Formats: sequence, structure tokens, C-alpha cells
Amino acid sequence: MDAKIRLYVDHPLGQEQTVPLDRAQAHYLFGVMRQAVGGAVLLFNGRDGEWHATITDAGKRGGALRVDAQTRPLQMPPDLWLCFAPIKKARTDFIVEKAAEMGAARIVPVQTEFTNAGRIQRDRLQTHAVEAAEQCGGTYVPEVADLYRMDRLLDQWPGDRRIMFCDEALSDDQAPLAGDPGPWAIFIGPEGGFSDRERTRLREHPAAVPVSLGPRILRADTAAVAALTVWQQRFGDWQ
Ligand code: SAM
Repeated sequence: MDAKIRLYVDHPLGQEQTVPLDRAQAHYLFGVMRQAVGGAVLLFNGRDGEWHATITDAGKRGGALRVDAQTRPLQMPPDLWLCFAPIKKARTDFIVEKAAEMGAARIVPVQTEFTNAGRIQRDRLQTHAVEAAEQCGGTYVPEVADLYRMDRLLDQWPGDRRIMFCDEALSDDQAPLAGDPGPWAIFIGPEGGFSDRERTRLREHPAAVPVSLGPRILRADTAAVAALTVWQQRFGDWQ
């Protein structure tokens, strides 16, 4: 039977594997999507690719699926992190959702000097990344990291990872993305932008490539999507 529903499960996937469903998944599949025993679902867990599965047990509080056959192998995104300063709740949700859709491998919320949020709800953001992967056909789910302080993050920065530093101060200049493929991270500042100290630190960082995203100052959520587009087009898996 054709399966249209895609579901993320935190469970190993392989032929003949039985996958139990928790209450929320059962509610979604049987209550919201009106599925029943014999129905077909596509499953992925971020590690084993995508699998066709058949519903074998459908209850109010749970259920079970039998895994039939693999439909797609795991497709890893390029080694790209999106480091961004969390902004208002809905806009932060948007950034996480778009980063997962656009193929970021890791999402790193960063506390900068002008970041209002002192903490994030990591689990809620991770759920947004899972839902984005479910709807966009992804077989991988980017990890949403805990909130990092920007100075600490840069202190521990891995030497081989370049930084695409999106610097709004360059908006009047031509500063396109240069460099080679490999591990990268995009840096997007908060609504108030990076502080002068942070901008200096990023500019002097040996891994940093300052980049302009055009002559207009973009909102942070727009800038995140624009930067992911530019990077994917230049070095990513869009070619
Ligand atoms: N308050 C800042 C100002 O008026 O200069 C604007 C900050 S902007 C809303 C948020 C972030 O988006 C910036 O820190 C930068 O990382 C990115 N950004 C926005 N427009 C950009 C541009 N034209 N070029 C490069 N980065 C940009």
C-alpha cells in the first residue's frame, strides 16, 4: 500500500522490526490522520534511512508498526552548522524549521551581547526540527544544541571549520562568499546585530570569512534563510 504519512521514530529501523508507538504518535496517526490496522506509514529515525511500515496495532494510548522494506537510504546533509542568536519565539521557531529544511547539519543557538533570550527551550526547538524533516522528506534530523555563549563557542572553535560571518556592516560592500567546501558554520546576529567587540573578534578570527547578504539590512530570520541559500548554492548539496 502507498504510504503518504512520514513519521519520525526514536527506534532502530530494519526489516521485520516492530516499532512501538507512544501516546502522542498514536493520537496523531489514529486520531488526527484516521489511520487503522493495515495502513501504511513511512518511518525514519535520522540514522537508518526511510522505511515503509504497516500498522499492526492501533489503540488510543499506543500502537505498533511492522517495518517492511527500506524506501530510501540515509542522506546526510553537508557539514554545515547554523549558529544564530535566538530572537522572538515564533521567529526562532521559524529559523530552526528553515535550517532543517534547507539542509543544516547542526543548529547552534548562540547568546551574543545583544541577545535578549537568556535561555532556550531546546526540546521544543528539537521538535520543530523533527517536524520539518518529516514534512520535507529529510532522512536526517539536525541536532539543536544548547544555548552557547558566543565567546565560549569561539574559544573552543574547531580549527578546521570555517565561519561564514554574515556582517550587516558590509551591506554597502561587495563581499560574496569565498573559500572551499568542507566544514562550515554560518553566523547570524540578533535583532540588534553583533556588538563592535563581537564583530572585531569575528573579523580577526582565522576561520572567518566576512560576507554581505546584499545592500539591505535583513531581519535575522530572513538573513538565516538567505545565508543558507547562498552557502548551499556555493558549496552544498544543491548542485
Ligand atoms: N540592528 C542591526 C543594524 O541595524 O545594523 C541589524 C541586525 S540584522 C536584523 C540581524 C543579523 O542578520 C545581522 O547581525 C547579520 O548577521 C545578518 N544580516 C542582516 N542583513 C545583512 C546583510 N545585508 N549582510 C550580511 N548580514 C546581514
